[in-house]
Amino acid sequence: MICVHTRFFNQLIVAIVLLMTSVGAVSQQSLGPVEVTQSVADQFGLLIADPRVQMSLAAIEANEPETLAEQVRLTEIPAPPFQEQRRAQYYLQQMQRRGMPDAYIDTEGNVIGIRRGSGDGPLFVIAAHLDTVFPMDTDVSLEVRDGRYYAPGISDDGRGLAALLTLIDAINASGMETIGDIMFVGNVGEEGPGDLRGVKAIFRDFPQIDGFVSIDGSGVTRVTNGGTGSRRFAVEFTGPGGHSFSAFGLVSATHALGRAIANIGDLQVPAQPRTTFTVGTVSGGTSVNSIAQDAMFELDMRSNDAAELAKLEAKVREVVQAAVDEENARWNENGSTDKGQITVNFRLIGDRPTGSTSPDHPLVQVAALAFEAVGSPVQGLQTSSTDSNMPMSLGIPAITIGGGGSGGGAHSTEEWFDPTDAHLGPQLAFLLTLALVGVQGVSAPQL
Ligand SMILES: [Zn+2]
Repeated sequence: MICVHTRFFNQLIVAIVLLMTSVGAVSQQSLGPVEVTQSVADQFGLLIADPRVQMSLAAIEANEPETLAEQVRLTEIPAPPFQEQRRAQYYLQQMQRRGMPDAYIDTEGNVIGIRRGSGDGPLFVIAAHLDTVFPMDTDVSLEVRDGRYYAPGISDDGRGLAALLTLIDAINASGMETIGDIMFVGNVGEEGPGDLRGVKAIFRDFPQIDGFVSIDGSGVTRVTNGGTGSRRFAVEFTGPGGHSFSAFGLVSATHALGRAIANIGDLQVPAQPRTTFTVGTVSGGTSVNSIAQDAMFELDMRSNDAAELAKLEAKVREVVQAAVDEENARWNENGSTDKGQITVNFRLIGDRPTGSTSPDHPLVQVAALAFEAVGSPVQGLQTSSTDSNMPMSLGIPAITIGGGGSGGGAHSTEEWFDPTDAHLGPQLAFLLTLALVGVQGVSAPQL
């Protein structure tokens, strides 16, 4: 433990010296994929030079066993999509216990605690998601094997939730007065069917938010600054239906569906920006000896670029309508409708907006400095689908980071978490948060 402390402080001092000596010499420095401007680096240097910050970082490390214990308690409360209530209640109690007596649960089910700054500062949100992908009857109890902690949801996002609670403790214990307001959020609805309903509600209710960070999963190497958007539809075909032998010649909902899927299967999409589509599920028909009255498929479309996603959707609508027209023309001669008509309806079942935060934004720069300061430099910028999609799509700077340690098997019942050096996660969140909102008498807000 002492060795690790010493190494850590050495790294800090090296970082401070590097930052301080570069004043006036260069206007930028590269931290992996991120270019950091001098003014951002200077303010960050002032922050990490404060002895209270160093004491807090040491306290976070010393407190890691309790962070891990909290992570396990949270993980063992089931929280499937739309059934996050029990975990949310527990999370609310934990926030209240940690000096946030006004924390509350909003109408969507998000747990929200606001820590006021000294005024006139930015409003910064740091969040972790309450929901998991696992149904209510999944066994979520912990099993420890070979130093690894196995439980569905233990990393995604048990780790983020626990890191966030430790962050609240650390800021309160530091005695530092922030300039900006910090909103701590345990949000619902990040996973598939939730469709980002938690963060959608947050940005609807607080349009004045200046910046957002999601702690999602484990690790301390990645910054997600791009948001893959998705549009999902249930595509529903309806026709007259009838007996397969006596009513032969009627238009068929399943035949129209088949034509539509064949057309979609032939679509071309760009490799860059990455754009994808798939018909995930198919259902319909009444029986083997019926001309189908109803049929439907579920379609998933994604892109890292909003315009490409819109283009793909327009193309899909066009080829599906062409398939319906073909089916209607196949059985009806010369524009007649004697053999019935197939109609199609696109029902939206998922909508995750696309977005990105520029690598040049101070939020990303501060993140790179914080990664460097905890001794785990940023290895890359990523694009994926996270809660940050929502603010990114609104032009509000946002990134997603990991909560420390490492893990694997996400979204499977074999999900695991390795707590080695896991304290780096909450340490990173601590430095990032304070740098972004600013500290009275120490450093200016970077949001
Ligand atoms: Zn997650």
